[in-house]
Amino acid sequence: MLRKKIGWKFDNTYSNLSQSMLSKLNPTPVKTPELVLFNHNLSKEIDLDFSQIDNKELALIFSGNQLPDGSESIAQAYAGHQFGHFTILGDGRALTIGEHLDRNKNRYDIQFKGSGKTPYSRNADGRAALGPMLREYIISEAMHNLGVSTTRSLAVIKTGEDVIRESILQGAILTRVASSHIRVGTFQYALISKNKSDLKTLFDYTLKRHYPNIKKSESPAVDLLKVVLEKQINLICNWMRIGFIHGVMNTDNMTISGETIDYGPCAFMDKYDPGTVFSSIDHLGRYAYSNQPRIAKWNLDRFAESLLPLINNDSKVAIEIATEVLKEFPEKYKKKWLEMMKKKLGLVGDDLNDEQLIIELLSWMHKNKADYTNTFCYLMKEYKQKNEVYNEKQFILWKKKWEDRIKINNNSQEKSLKIMRKVNPLVIPRNHLIEDALKQATEMNDLNKVHKLLKVLQNPYSSISTTSVYQSTPPLEENYVTYCGT
Ligand code: AMP
Ligand code: MG
Repeated sequence: MLRKKIGWKFDNTYSNLSQSMLSKLNPTPVKTPELVLFNHNLSKEIDLDFSQIDNKELALIFSGNQLPDGSESIAQAYAGHQFGHFTILGDGRALTIGEHLDRNKNRYDIQFKGSGKTPYSRNADGRAALGPMLREYIISEAMHNLGVSTTRSLAVIKTGEDVIRESILQGAILTRVASSHIRVGTFQYALISKNKSDLKTLFDYTLKRHYPNIKKSESPAVDLLKVVLEKQINLICNWMRIGFIHGVMNTDNMTISGETIDYGPCAFMDKYDPGTVFSSIDHLGRYAYSNQPRIAKWNLDRFAESLLPLINNDSKVAIEIATEVLKEFPEKYKKKWLEMMKKKLGLVGDDLNDEQLIIELLSWMHKNKADYTNTFCYLMKEYKQKNEVYNEKQFILWKKKWEDRIKINNNSQEKSLKIMRKVNPLVIPRNHLIEDALKQATEMNDLNKVHKLLKVLQNPYSSISTTSVYQSTPPLEENYVTYCGT
């Protein structure tokens, strides 16, 4: 009875692809599901109403113990280059329980992460631990509020079961909402599938779902490559804008929709250092902050390889065409990055020295271990804490140059500040704050700090009473490390 009032509108289409691309199976029921977090704002945004559903029933639904009518759960097959090495993967611990349509016919994958073993689990347990699922919830929702394209988080439940990692942890399931889960790795998988029509079918499906306008074009495969290239440039520029480091930019973790996906060892940079790497396994810095654009291009090369048979029957011709598109990446990225950085500094119009001005600031930050986010807050007069670094001589000289630059093109400081306030967050989900909140949640079953953190991150561009507390940085010498196997 009650379930009818929620408003699920399932219209499952991915499961109609060739059976070699997926496996149909249900989540493995869990022992004692208990609701930990629920995102009522998101549920409203996608036209779901859980207001009459109590926490007990929410836990039953979002553990997979009681699947909603109309759902049909599947694990998707995909492949991917992990740290440059090709591997066959697939949803090893995730199941998409269905595609929900909102009133405007926007389509959302509703996916459980940590829902049990699948045919793609290899030797792993198919489960997830509470800490990492809360972490994905906090960071993905923060990313959304920061204006970055991303998968969202609807719920976290505890399973009442242990998961064994380096220690025994509480099991959990995250419900993820995504415009789709089609990855570069999905195309890589379809390319090598025994079923020769898989690639074309996936391609047609992707166009229909994400880029219907391309369908009518003369060379749809080239156009798909072009649009995904643009989407990824936009995405990476946004990551660079807020100091986000994804940490595992494997091709299976890059979506065709342009959404950030698979929050594993990701983290936000505090002090500015282009070489920043947090992931414990990224010894060579492949996925370091400043390498992200280069890696996006590398992943797009792999995407283009998967599309070659659809670009031209003659592979030599296809390669030539794809190469022409990919060649544009560096220039396009540079242009977007420059535009973005100019906004961060409130620079209106063009000046020959703009790039130099930006680079000087970044180099100064690097040399002086200045905090990336707070430096822009300081320039916007939104960082009120005492910090000697901003009395440094070179910085004062740079600031004078910046103030002079702002005045040209009939511009005023007020206008610049207005531009800056839209792109420079006052708060980001800082590592030490997340760790502190997660510790309290996982060790003491106390979600108070998680809720407070979520609240301040809901409006990261506006100042609220607690903003300055969340601008605090960790000790400079502290080296934060993130782990895979999350
Ligand atoms: P990720 O690092 O989350 O992008 O995952 C990489 C691959 O490992 C994907 O195929 C996941 O489904 C799989 N995987 C990660 N953790 C588990 C787990 N606990 N059980 C089964 N598969 C997993
Ligand atoms: Mg992944």
